[in-house]
Amino acid sequence: MVERYDVAIIGTGAGGGTLAWALAGTGKRILLIERGEYVPREKDNWSTRAVNLEGKYNTNEVWRDQDGKELHPHTNYYVGGNTKFYGAALFRLRREDFGEIKHHGGISPAWPVSYEDMEPYYTQAERLYQVHGERGVDPTDPPAGAPYPHPPVSHEPRVQQLSDDFARLGRRPFHVPLGVMLDEKNPQKSRCIRCETCDGHPCLVYAKSDAQVICVDPALAHPSVTLVTGAHVTRLETSASGREVTRIVVDRGGVTEAYAAGIVVVACGAINSAALLLRSANDKHPRGLANGSDTVGRHYMGHVNSVLMAVSKCPNPTVFQKTLALNDFYFGSEDWDHPMGHISFVGKLDGETLKAGAPAIAPGFTLDLMAKHSLDFWLTSEDLPDPDNRVTLDREGNIVLAYKPNNEEGHRRLIAKLKSLMSQQTKCRVHGHECHEGLFARNLYLGQRIPLAGVAHQNGTIRFGRDPQTSALDANCKAHELDNLYVVDASCFPSSAAVNPALTIMANALRVGEHLKERLA
Ligand SMILES: Cc1cc2nc3c(=O)[nH]c(=O)nc-3n(C[C@H](O)[C@H](O)[C@H](O)COP(=O)(O)OP(=O)(O)OC[C@H]3O[C@@H](n4cnc5c(N)ncnc54)[C@H](O)[C@@H]3O)c2cc1C
Ligand code: SF4
Repeated sequence: MVERYDVAIIGTGAGGGTLAWALAGTGKRILLIERGEYVPREKDNWSTRAVNLEGKYNTNEVWRDQDGKELHPHTNYYVGGNTKFYGAALFRLRREDFGEIKHHGGISPAWPVSYEDMEPYYTQAERLYQVHGERGVDPTDPPAGAPYPHPPVSHEPRVQQLSDDFARLGRRPFHVPLGVMLDEKNPQKSRCIRCETCDGHPCLVYAKSDAQVICVDPALAHPSVTLVTGAHVTRLETSASGREVTRIVVDRGGVTEAYAAGIVVVACGAINSAALLLRSANDKHPRGLANGSDTVGRHYMGHVNSVLMAVSKCPNPTVFQKTLALNDFYFGSEDWDHPMGHISFVGKLDGETLKAGAPAIAPGFTLDLMAKHSLDFWLTSEDLPDPDNRVTLDREGNIVLAYKPNNEEGHRRLIAKLKSLMSQQTKCRVHGHECHEGLFARNLYLGQRIPLAGVAHQNGTIRFGRDPQTSALDANCKAHELDNLYVVDASCFPSSAAVNPALTIMANALRVGEHLKERLA
């Protein structure tokens, strides 16, 4: 007997977890299917050696690149998905990102929904995920229906000094909107302890607003919601007409199980969602489920990202570094009329983390010393949807990810902008001019482009749109070619924009949730 539910949601990350929360109160029978387990709560959650060097929580799955070379993806299969490990920087896309934008490397296409369609759901998502931020400082901030629900996370002195320097140079730095449960007014009661192992690590004290803590666990408090873990969906089967998913085939520890639901939602992350639809090819859908347009798996985007360490003679004692961002060059600058992107921080790097992807060592430094003396920037530029950048399957059904970087000139210019800003900083107040020279006269910036295995910001592989010839999903994220199949993760993004994707995935899940509630009523 195949168990039947009203809704089955495959994947419990930013997309699936948030949708489960949105539907939990309807009383409908909802099944969450997750290939991973809960992240074990243990001291290693906060060990940079275990997390970054040994990759303890990373999947062991092996993918391949277009040349057949092995790819060890930096991705995590757990209840809560990659939000268990994210840095919780929760940005709205800019209003303009929903329209067509001309980049140096080509066109960033328009979305089938406008910023105004998304705005109420962004506001809801910020409330749900307890975002701490400030409006009206970032010049690219889109109009919002409400203030942030919590005040911004304060800068530590070194980051405040940098912020003051940027402001003195006429720039408009702002506080990163963050989903951490930090109460700086009542530190003794604050769930978040403001530690150095946040970005990339699970939160041992459940103070990070991730999809498990905020959505999945509360949804499971409803008796009508069920979660099965260790349940890898291998295939979706359809009715003879091909219009309906009738069977969800699951591999659970080597045993095959099957489930069925009136509505089936795929939210496995953009790469795995595309792979699942491709693996589900049948007579009615010979190129893969919902793939008459031949767009499933195509247009993979992952951002043009760099980690850039500005190393100084003075130490940087910051603990929680990811509080400052700069969007002044998001759409261009006085001297260049094309978008460049977004500047912010990664969590404070340490020697162990650097060993995992060691940059060239600065003269006279060890990795450990370098990490103690660096400001660690995270730069994001938009990559454009190229149909040849795509997810396919090899003969055994394993994932192959083909990607050729594009639109890189803007990123190069963004790096140059940051270098220029850094070289104009004020002298160090503690050590005077000597330090200042040591700090910046060396002009020591060690840049590292994130390699292909860094799939943290994956998106674009099952795009939504109004035309079934050029998109797989409609504006409600329902497959054009099936009546009961939805995809609710970053697969639907027609463009990647240049800010982090999670809040948009969450807001979109809430939007699709509204549509599904009407459909289920
Ligand atoms: C280290 C790191 C830092 C990040 N920092 C930020 C940040 O600061 N801000 C931000 O906006 N974004 C950040 N991101 C990205 C963010 O985490 C993702 O954009 C987001 O989690 C994607 O949501 P999703 O629902 O699409 O997929 P996921 O969160 O990856 O969830 C997909 C789920 O589906 C499950 N699954 C996959 N395939 C199957 C299958 N076949 N059967 C059953 N289950 C399946 C997976 O186990 C997983 O739980 C970061 C990511 C990483 C890795
Ligand atoms: S305690 Fe706060 S800073 Fe530390 S991991 Fe948890 S949410 Fe992040």
